Amino acid sequence: MFSRCFSVLAIACQKEYYIRTLGVFMEEKAKKQKTNEPVSPLMERLVSLAKRRGFIYAGSEIYGGLGGTWDYGPLGVELKNNIKKEWWKRFVSYRRDMYGIDSSILMNSKVWEASGHLKNFVDPMVDCKKCKGRFRADKIDVSSGCPTCGAKDFTEARPFNMMFKTHAGPVEDSGAEVYLRPETAQGMFVNFKNVIDSFHPKLPFGIAQIGKAFRNEITPGNFIFRTREFEQMEIEYFIKPGGWESQFDYWLGEMRKWTEFLGIAKGVSEREVSAEDRAHYSKRTIDIDFEFPFGKEELYGLAYRTDFDLKNHIEKSGIDLVYYNEETKKKLVPHVIEPTFGVDRTMLAVLLNSFAEEEVKEGEIRAVLKFPARLAPVKVAVFPLVSNKENILAKAEEVHGRLKESIDSVRWDDIGNIGKRYRRQDEIGTPWCVTVDYQTLEDGTVTVRDRDTMKQERIAAGELAGYFHKKLSQ
Ligand SMILES: [Zn+2]
Repeated sequence: MFSRCFSVLAIACQKEYYIRTLGVFMEEKAKKQKTNEPVSPLMERLVSLAKRRGFIYAGSEIYGGLGGTWDYGPLGVELKNNIKKEWWKRFVSYRRDMYGIDSSILMNSKVWEASGHLKNFVDPMVDCKKCKGRFRADKIDVSSGCPTCGAKDFTEARPFNMMFKTHAGPVEDSGAEVYLRPETAQGMFVNFKNVIDSFHPKLPFGIAQIGKAFRNEITPGNFIFRTREFEQMEIEYFIKPGGWESQFDYWLGEMRKWTEFLGIAKGVSEREVSAEDRAHYSKRTIDIDFEFPFGKEELYGLAYRTDFDLKNHIEKSGIDLVYYNEETKKKLVPHVIEPTFGVDRTMLAVLLNSFAEEEVKEGEIRAVLKFPARLAPVKVAVFPLVSNKENILAKAEEVHGRLKESIDSVRWDDIGNIGKRYRRQDEIGTPWCVTVDYQTLEDGTVTVRDRDTMKQERIAAGELAGYFHKKLSQ
């Protein structure tokens, strides 16, 4: 009882018991940068927690890793799936104007010729002649020397195509060359006619997919922020030519609402991308940036791709990718608004934004991930108060079994004392813990403990499913 009141008090009196969140870490970092002290440990803490608790591991770790690759562990994949599931519900299933697909990663090379990626998807690259390090010419200051060895002896900048190339079939000649897709978008364009023929949608309508994309980044880094293999959630929204501005604004609004749902809206800002920085296909782009500990960087993008892609595919494929307007009895090539969302970057923003360290009582600090409940990898953990009492165990198993039937990802935890279990569940972001104790045997109620407030309340075991469903729908 004492410790419970104490915890609540700790939250109420922030003067005495500190709470460190992304904002606090950022302030500390700003101060330290001024005095040239090492920067904030937030990323290090998060990377370490993510590994320790089974969210994210370095790719091919036992062989020393592979640059720009990360593996999602048992809890990471749950978090990632929940993000994708919520996105799909919001932008595909719940809408009448959206068609979901799942296209191949390997596509005919002519796709990339038509899309302009073979020619335009390049970064300028320089090599250090001394240490052979390779850098993006636009990301380093050539005049101040090599970031690795300090030498000031670089090759001329030259274009480097970021697409991964491989060969389809047993013959490795140039005719068998294929590319791993650098964006999922082209899958939507090449299936435009298929969707029209199958569903006869009226404009405006969208095609969406979630899937892997690959970019041979010269300098991957910042954990899962810039990786060579990543996942995208993309929409190609087809509209009538003319009047694209209102559709652009509408989608910007939808993207804002999504960041609100994720709980990260406070950390995001919008940036108009200048003509020279825009991708080759875009007439207008707004980047939605997030305040990461390593700087303000792109989280999502919204682009007006005009009819660039469909027109080029019509020209290169010779197939008539047009929309037949029933009213005017005329054919037209739709224009496209493209909202694009990085899955891994969403993960990173949500993890950073949810992470906090709180002193819950004198000298006791908890690390906690305050995920929005619907994203949490584990929704409810069920504890038997003690694991050596038959009747308590049996009752806890019954509660666990019944909850599992109606709530996704309910876990069992009986290792260590209750305090340790709370700390462990806090660290993985479990919103609620249910404890079956002696009182349960008498009156059928259990203790439900809330992750954020650390408050506990007694609830009848039979009402738990309804209680959590209500919480999860909020
Ligand atoms: Zn060097």
